[in-house]
Amino acid sequence: MPNAKATHQKTRQHNRDLVLETIFANQPISRAEIARVTKLTRATVSDLIAVFIEEGLVAEVGYGASMGGKLPILLSLVADSRFVIGLNLGQDKFIGSVVNLQGEIKETVELPVSDSDGGQALQLVYQMLDRLLKKGWQPIIGIGVGTPGLVNTRDGIVVDAVNLDWQNLPLAQLLKDRYHLPVAVLNDSQANAIGEFMYGGNHAPDGNLVVVNVRHGIGAGILINGRLFQGDGGGAGEIGHVIVQENGTLCRCGKRGCLETVSSASAVVQRAREFSGQYAGSKLAQDPAKISFDSIVAAFQAGDPLAQRVVLDAAHYLGMSIASLVGTLNIQKIVITGEMAHFGDTWLKVIEESMQQAGFTHMVQGTRIEIGKLDYRGYILGASSLLLMEDYSLLFNQSAD
Ligand SMILES: [Zn+2]
Repeated sequence: MPNAKATHQKTRQHNRDLVLETIFANQPISRAEIARVTKLTRATVSDLIAVFIEEGLVAEVGYGASMGGKLPILLSLVADSRFVIGLNLGQDKFIGSVVNLQGEIKETVELPVSDSDGGQALQLVYQMLDRLLKKGWQPIIGIGVGTPGLVNTRDGIVVDAVNLDWQNLPLAQLLKDRYHLPVAVLNDSQANAIGEFMYGGNHAPDGNLVVVNVRHGIGAGILINGRLFQGDGGGAGEIGHVIVQENGTLCRCGKRGCLETVSSASAVVQRAREFSGQYAGSKLAQDPAKISFDSIVAAFQAGDPLAQRVVLDAAHYLGMSIASLVGTLNIQKIVITGEMAHFGDTWLKVIEESMQQAGFTHMVQGTRIEIGKLDYRGYILGASSLLLMEDYSLLFNQSAD
């Protein structure tokens, strides 16, 4: 005979997590709206809210607009009632933050990354977490990690992160064993997509969003119906190593002409040096060895022809790749983030034109591309949010059950 009590408890937990998810994603929100979104009864929602308020997890924060009748009371998570640690393991530095339930960053630690091997990179992660945990924010309910490379989020394994020299590293288990906290690990572009979705003003009502992250590497994160879509192997959105130029420049992945070899921040530096001989009139070209990403940004703004060439080439190929994404997903909202966004509206316009040219007219016409607003915070907030999106019960005191 099925255990009725256990089944009842399971249903209650499911409803509880569903209500928490709805508040987290839509706060501030009224009880009536929560009932409408979750399809739970008003009574069930009100009962659960009463428990959350007693736990200090949710608070009444004001009144919403009247839908006829009395003004609805709005609810939010209590910002500093719980904290999550978010890490972004970037190319040249690691950044870690303590984040509250409203996505406010309370504390940040940055550590420079030198040419380290995988063991040293892991030690650096420990060092950062040790420091963040010593800051005294309580309670910390878990750790979310955004890392470059291919990640198996379900098992918490970094399958391959070339820059960090990690292959099949069971990062989540290592951190769980050391800190006794729940851990979520995901690709950094995917983390950034969640961050932009939750906190970047990109919370499209249908929950569909593509965030293309253009730094030294290029990758996209895809949200469908408000959930991260990772594909069968965890690599959905890894557009950086798809070839756009046959027989092009050798890529760090071993192939030639990948999108990263023309459209990334490293690629524009490399190509500007390579083409400097062809641009006698360019100030930038005068001292090829000194060309850096920052000098290209300045030269681009000043209208330098060599800078224009490499940056607009980068935009052109990126636009073509985005057209493929749009052709596959038909998602109408695309956000671009990362260092390359420093090239601003002129760069963005060429991406858009190239997408329009390369894509299926009916589909690309309705697609909008914007530059993201969150800088490094997107990665941190996304990594910390994933932890909750995977398990909202983490918000609840273990003792409460
Ligand atoms: Zn490649």
